[in-house]
Order: sequence, then structure tokens, then C-alpha cells
Amino acid sequence: MATTAELQVRDEVFVGGEWVKPEGSETIDVVNSTTEEVMGTIPACAPGDADRAARAARAAFDSWSQTSRQERGGYLAAIAAGLGERSEEIAATIARELGMPLKLSQIIQAGLPVGQFAAMPKLIEEVAWEEEIGNSRVLREPIGVLGAITPWNYPLNQIAAKVAPALAAGCTVVLKPSEVVPLNAFILAEVIEAAGLPAGVFNLVTGAGPVVGEAIAGHPEVDMVSFTGSTRAGRRVSELASATVKPVAMELGGKSPNVILDDADLERAIPDGVAKCFLNSGQTCSALTRMLVPRGKLAEAEQLATKAAEGFAPGDPFDADARLGPLVSETQRERVRGYIEKGEAEGAKLLTGGGAPPEGLDRGYFVRPTVFSEVTPEMTIAQEEIFGPVLAIQPYEDEEDAVRIANDTVYGLAGGVWSADTERAIDVAKRIRTGQVEINGGAFNPLAPFGGYKQSGHGRENGRFAIEELLQIKSLQL
Ligand code: NAD
Repeated sequence: MATTAELQVRDEVFVGGEWVKPEGSETIDVVNSTTEEVMGTIPACAPGDADRAARAARAAFDSWSQTSRQERGGYLAAIAAGLGERSEEIAATIARELGMPLKLSQIIQAGLPVGQFAAMPKLIEEVAWEEEIGNSRVLREPIGVLGAITPWNYPLNQIAAKVAPALAAGCTVVLKPSEVVPLNAFILAEVIEAAGLPAGVFNLVTGAGPVVGEAIAGHPEVDMVSFTGSTRAGRRVSELASATVKPVAMELGGKSPNVILDDADLERAIPDGVAKCFLNSGQTCSALTRMLVPRGKLAEAEQLATKAAEGFAPGDPFDADARLGPLVSETQRERVRGYIEKGEAEGAKLLTGGGAPPEGLDRGYFVRPTVFSEVTPEMTIAQEEIFGPVLAIQPYEDEEDAVRIANDTVYGLAGGVWSADTERAIDVAKRIRTGQVEINGGAFNPLAPFGGYKQSGHGRENGRFAIEELLQIKSLQL
């Protein structure tokens, strides 16, 4: 199988501009999600390592925050170029760690982070760094040391979405990547080192969330925490950050609705919706996991969704025609299977897929692409984030009912609306309480603000908005 490669042993973390041994000698295994074999190890750092990193970031802040925008832009462009040069290695590493098909991994997992850094030199200039209001000069200044805690599903992009705007803003960074898919973060640290960033501006520590993540969130020298991950861990980070009154940005889970209005072209809308649910084996926070269909069109939608889902045959991410890789870990596979069983037990109609292992794949954390219909709002699979290739079709009676069902979860991250009439779709989108809505399959825009309403979090990433998030405001009265 093409997914195996040499064992990658990382026994140092990047602190204060150097690769250093962590305090302890404990390690965490990184597992290849397709072969189930250990593909590498990383340090399980201690709180003391997070402390060293936070102090290094604090020490570097004064001079880094005073650099010119051009200088910071130059470093950011160099990091983008460095990532670009290593993009094949990044794509393959993440395809092994996470399981995303290689071709997609090249575009998304390796490509998007390059774009995040490359966009910054221009975006820095779009921020209103200074403005005059009456006798006042209002300044925007970097918030200080940013603690960045990131998840495993789009690992390097989620790191880049925090680190790139932080460096652009003039902040220094302590990064703790996911311990489940961490090897890509070491490549970024090497790229940053090669770009010659001043010591302490970027620091990498690795390990378990409750140990290293909590040490960062509660650290007095960390001025802000930007967290992406589960709502459960986000709550804990917010609690710890509150002790030192740190602002927090939270990018959390989702249960995003895709509202297919009665005049929509089902032949386009349904396959697009299935693909938006199954991308990255459903491990996408903004996945359109609930498809809302007018009851009168349910039979047709079911048939189209089944056909589209069955096109997503699970397979080795390194096979050229793979569309659905494994889930990231055994834990996730068991969790997703549990939701599938719950869907059946609570009376949802299973159209295709199910909890049994896919045929012919006796290794790897694979789950069958699964579609349920007749899912009602009180069912668990309509309310909770599954994070697997599981679509819930929810019938509705009329537009009011569709909006009500769309908003009937604690989440508010993303959504979609389909209609033959774009203005009608936009009117419905305005009533959906989520941070982004795609109209008739509108493409992801990496420069548009991304973030949640309700329990999907607060704060915005991507584009100019991401830099502004990391600035505080000072007014000088003249
Ligand atoms: P997770 O919450 O378990 O872990 C995320 C990060 O937080 C990891 O680095 C982890 O080590 C750390 N962490 C865990 N417990 C912690 C604690 N007590 N204190 C501090 N840090 C802690 O989530 P995950 O399983 O890695 O990622 C999946 C979740 O992330 C899903 O719920 C998904 O929806 C969400 N997510 C959201 C977005 C978004 O932009 N809204 C993007 C990707 C993923």
C-alpha cells in the first residue's frame, strides 16, 4: 500500500527560535489512519514547556510588534514560498495522518495554507491601522502573545488561519497543534525557521489538550487564545482564559443545514449537497450535514442522494480514484458508527450505508457513506455533530418550516440555500442564523470571513477580518 513511509520521530519542539528538548521524555504516537500503523511520534510536552514558549513569545513581542508592515509582509511571503516548496510532502503527510485522498490533500490541505500566508502582505495594507475621529487618532495595535490551539481535520490550514494573521498583525505566537495529526506542524516550524523569523515570534509545543492546551489558555503571558475544536474543549479554554480576562476566539462545531427550496434544480443541488457533506469523510466543521427537502420532492431527493452517496466508495487515499478516505482514528470511527446505530434506533430511514465495515477493507478506519431520510428535528442525528460521512435528510412542509428546522440546533456555523431564484435564496439565507451561507453551491472563498453564530463560536478567521480579530484599539486625544 502506497500509504506507508518511514517512521517520523520528532523529539524536539521549536521554542525561542531553536529546536529544544521538552522537559519530559513522554511521547505520543501518530497513527496512519489507513494502515492503522504508527507512522511517527511527537513529544508529549509538559506545562513547563508551554511556559517556556509563552515567555519566549512575550520576549519577542516588543520588537516584532514594532516592525514595519513591509517587513512582516516579507516574512509572510517567504513562509508562503517555503510551504509551497514542501507542498508535496505536506499533502502526503496529511493524507497518511488524516486519510484525505491525496489529490484533494494537495489542493486543500497543502494548497490552502500557502494561500493564507501568501494573501497576507496585501491584506496588511487593507487594515485601517490609523484613523482620525474628531480630535482623536485611533490606532489599531497587535493584541500581544496569541495562544493558538488547533484541531486535526484541516490541520495545517487551521494553523495557518491563526498564525498568518497573527504575524501580519504584529503578534507573537505559541502554537499547540492537534496531537492526532501533528506532523505537518513540524514542517511549518521548519519553514518558519528557514524564513529567518526573529527568535520567539513563532513557537511550537505539542502534546495533550488538557495538559499543554490548558497551560496555554491559563498562562498570564498569553494575551489572547484562538481555539478551533470541539465545543466541549472550547468551553474549558474559555473558562481558563477568563481567569486572566483574555479575549478568546472560538471556532467550534456545526450541524449545518442545506435548504433545498421547492423551485431548486434537484439534479444539481442534491449531488452538490452530498459532496459538501462527505468532503474529508464528513470531518469538516462546516459540512452541510442536514439536507432540508420539501416533502413533495422527498422521493426524488432520496433517489438522487442515494446515487450520489454510492459514488463515494471508500478506498486508500493514495489510490488515484479514491473519493472517500478513512476517518482519522479508531475513536472517531466508533463514535460515527454509534451515531449511525442511534439513527436507526430512533427511527430514521436508512437509504444507503450503515454501521457495518465497508467490504474489502479490513484495515483502516473506514465508514460506509451513509444517508438517512425522514430525520426529524428531535433525533440525535439531527442535533449532534457526527463528524463522519453521514447525511441526514429532513423533510419540511413550507418555507417557514424550513427556516425553523434550519435554525433548530445549538449550532450556527454554515448553511446552504438552493433556489431557481437567487434573490429568494438570499432572502432565506438572511433568516438562517449561521456565520456563512452558500447560495446555489457558491464556492468557498478563502478571503471571506469564516466563523460561527450561537454555540459554533465567535470571532472570524480568513482574509482581512482575521487580522482585525487580533488587534486592539487605542485612541490618542490630540
Ligand atoms: P478537540 O476539541 O478535541 O481538540 C482541538 C484542540 O484542542 C486540540 O489541539 C486538542 O489537543 C485541544 N484540547 C482538547 N482539550 C483541551 C483542553 N481541555 N484545553 C485546551 N485544549 C484542549 O477537537 P478535535 O477532535 O481536534 O476537532 C474536531 C472538532 O473541531 C469538531 O467538533 C469540529 O467541528 C471542530 N472544528 C471546528 C472548526 C471551525 O472552524 N469552526 C474547524 C475545524 C474543526
